[in-house]
Order: sequence, then C-alpha cells, then structure tokens
Amino acid sequence: MIIVGGGFSGTLVAIHLLRQGNCVHIDLIDPRIPGRGLAYSTAWDDHLLNVPAIRMSAFGSEPMHFLEWLQANGKPDADASLFAPRKLYGSYLQDVLETSIRAASGRCTFRHHMCEAVHAWSDSISVYVLLRNGERIQAAKLVLACGNPPPRALASHIDTPWAPGAFATLDRDRDVLLIGAGLTAIDAFLALQAQGHRGKVHFVSRRGKLPHAHQPYRPLPNSFSPSGAMGARLLLREIRRHVREAEAEGVDWRAVIDSMRPVTNDIWRQLEPCEQRRVLRHLKTWWDIHRHRMAPEIGATIAAAQADGRIVVHAGRLKQIPSDGRAEISLRAGGTLTLDVQRIVNCTGSDEDYRQTANPLMRSLLASGRIVANPIGKGLHTSEHGELYDADGASAGWLLTLGPPRLGGLFETTAVPELRKQAEALALYLSSVIYEPIEIVPELFMAAGI
Ligand SMILES: Cc1cc2nc3c(=O)[nH]c(=O)nc-3n(C[C@H](O)[C@H](O)[C@H](O)COP(=O)(O)OP(=O)(O)OC[C@H]3O[C@@H](n4cnc5c(N)ncnc54)[C@H](O)[C@@H]3O)c2cc1C
Repeated sequence: MIIVGGGFSGTLVAIHLLRQGNCVHIDLIDPRIPGRGLAYSTAWDDHLLNVPAIRMSAFGSEPMHFLEWLQANGKPDADASLFAPRKLYGSYLQDVLETSIRAASGRCTFRHHMCEAVHAWSDSISVYVLLRNGERIQAAKLVLACGNPPPRALASHIDTPWAPGAFATLDRDRDVLLIGAGLTAIDAFLALQAQGHRGKVHFVSRRGKLPHAHQPYRPLPNSFSPSGAMGARLLLREIRRHVREAEAEGVDWRAVIDSMRPVTNDIWRQLEPCEQRRVLRHLKTWWDIHRHRMAPEIGATIAAAQADGRIVVHAGRLKQIPSDGRAEISLRAGGTLTLDVQRIVNCTGSDEDYRQTANPLMRSLLASGRIVANPIGKGLHTSEHGELYDADGASAGWLLTLGPPRLGGLFETTAVPELRKQAEALALYLSSVIYEPIEIVPELFMAAGI
C-alpha cells in the first residue's frame, strides 16, 4: 500500500491498516514527519486547536484517547474543554503511529519516504509512484492523502504564512497586510505577535468578517436537520429562523450551527448542483465564520488586539498586487484606502479548485486524465468510498483519496471528527478489496504445480 501524504488523513489510514490484524506493507510518502501535515507542523505554541480535546481523539470509538494522552504527556490537568496547542496534537498523532507500527512489527512493515511524490501510474497488476529523488515504489493500491492545497499564488513576492520566509527579517514596528480574514489570517497574526511584532496588522477580505470564537452553550433540546431540497436561499432562511427561535429561548446560535454538523453532508447531497454552487458563492464565507471558530483564548487575544488598534479589519479588496509597499484597497463601503505596509501575506486559505494546483503529483494525474475535478469545480471527483474517477467517469480501483480532495462530493471533509471516520472506513474498504477471500480451485493449484 502506498500512501502519499502523512498529515492527519494519511497517518490515520496507516494507523488503521496497522491495527486491523492483516499483513500489510505500507510506504508512506511525505517530506514532512508523519502525523504533522499542514495543520499540526506549526512551530508556535500559540497556534491552538479550534476543537476541544474531547472531540479530537484519533478514534471515534475511543473519545477519551487524546485527552488521556495529554494527561499522560505533560498536561496532567487537561480537561475535556481544553483547546490544546496544535503542535502537541501533531506529537500525539506521531506517537499513535509509532505505537501502532511497534505493535504490528513482525506482521506489517512500514517505511516513511521523506520525499515528494511527483508521478503515479499503473499497469494491470501494480501501481507505481515516482519520487522526486528518482526512486520508484510499487504496490497494489495508492491512497492520495495530499490534503489542503496551498492558497492560489498571487505574485512571486507574496508568501503564504507557511512559507519559510513569510515573517523573516521584519521590522517589528512597521505595518503588515494580510489578504484574507479567516483562520489562516488569525494564525498569521498570532505568529507575528509571538515574534514581538508591534506594528499594525491589517486584514482585508470581501466582507471584513473575522471568525467567531467558541463559548460554552446549552445544547438544543431537539436536533435541527433542514432539508437541502429547499435550495440555498430557503435553507439560509430556515437556519436564521431556527437561530432566532433558539435565542428567544436563551439558547446560543452556536448550538444551532453545531447541531447541524452530523447532517451537513446529507443536506449538501440534497442540494441540486446549481444550488451547491450558490452555497459556495454566497453562503460559504458566512458559514465558515460561524462554524470554524477560534479557541476562546485566541478569540480574547484577537478582540484585545482589535480594541487597541493592533488589528485593523477592512471590508474590500486589493485593487492590484503592488510591487512596493503601497497597497490600494477598494473598500466595500466605497472609496479607496492606501496603506503603506512592509509586507503582504497571502492568507486566502486553501485553493479548493484542484485544476489550478501546483502539486506535481496532482498535476500529472490531472494531465493524464487519471483523476478529474469534481463537476462543481471544487475538490476531485470520487465515489462514496473515495475511489477517484478518471476522465471517462470510470474508477480504476487502484487510486483512492480522503479528506480535502473529497470536497465537492462532501461539504464537511476537513476537520478531525469527519476525517477520522473517513480514514477508518477507507482502511476497512482497502482491506476488504485487498484481502478478498479467494475461492480455492484445486485445478489452479495443480496447474501452478502446488
Ligand atoms: C492551519 C489549520 C488548522 C487546523 N486546525 C484544526 C483543528 O484545530 N481541529 C480540526 O478538527 N481540524 C483542524 N484543521 C483541519 C484538519 O485537521 C486538517 O485540514 C487536516 O490536517 C487535514 O489533513 P490531511 O492529512 O488531509 O492534509 P494535510 O494536513 O494538508 O497533510 C497533507 C500532507 O500531504 C503531503 N503531501 C502533499 N502532496 C504531496 C506529494 N506530492 N508528495 C508527498 N507528500 C505530499 C504534505 O506535505 C502534507 O504533509 C486545521 C487545518 C489547518 C490548515
């Protein structure tokens, strides 16, 4: 089995395959240390999970797993509501993987190739993956767990917050402009603050809205599961009506949004494709700031920075990418604002249109028609098991995926509670197709000289 990508998704598939009791050989390819991926390889302690510890177990059937790990690994006072540092979560995943490898030794083998995969193809028997260092790996199946694509490039001199030089050599007192106002921009601000940055940090986004923060709430007395068949506009109206009713009874809006979580993908599937596009165009930003919330501590930090003017949020768009530090913003309310900034950072979030990807493996698979974008233009076209469809609409059976590439077919496919389910189901599916019971035909054994 080859798994390309050792973030949460790829690591969890490997862990489940190792724990299943079958003999399996796993080649995991990722230039990063397994378990970290984009989200959990951060170096900053201030980058916290945006989900409380009790909901971050790697295993849905063992909800205490992460919490107990925290308590046994330097956080004895951790409780269910803790928003732990993301880098600690990466250590947890790494530890669970290493434990699973040790427990399966003698039965399974596991190799980590610290390299990028650049090309993949198959013949009638095997799948082959070419690595950047020239090595070629062969297996029966390939899982693409390449995760979150980077933001769409804006200009060569504008980095994403994850680029090694994004915050290097900054004058602490000069202003910085972040394009985007979601969780990526919040991450960027926290990284700047951790480096002692004192200048203003400007956020610019179309609506100028920051994500909300978590706070405890009383759950809804009854679950709320509106039907997607009503279309985007009525759906929004229905959610708003439910929020008003809940608030009239003293229940916070967060309870309504969170109660939809288990049925969000069902609602998504009930929407007609044109309604799905409307949701993506008009409602997704609104949904994201309510659904993907900041840890309460981070919410307090951001509110304080807004109050004392270190964060300034603008609703509008950058007129053009400046080559110097003069950034002109067309304000949503009208007029132009000119800012003098020492650096602009691209915090627009993952570019979910895979047709634009710079990932060499994805590009080569797209170019050869072995994979195609989802019909609505987000994510890749897959079956319900995550088998990737090719340009003829057929599934070759050797190429599967999970996580962010399943966007489009699914709406919720990036957070741990969804990904752990997908990883477990994918591992089960893989073992069912690889270890199919073989019908024993004596003549075959005789023909093979056995
Ligand atoms: C900044 C951030 C914070 C988040 N915080 C939370 C949170 O608090 N709680 C929560 O539930 N969810 C959170 N999420 C969402 C979710 O957990 C992540 O999206 C999750 O990490 C997705 O895992 P993944 O393995 O699919 O992708 P990724 O984490 O993106 O990992 C993909 C891996 O694939 C590798 N890769 C890609 N292409 C190749 C290639 N060609 N060859 C070799 N390797 C390749 C990359 O190096 C990377 O390590 C967060 C997401 C982000 C981006």
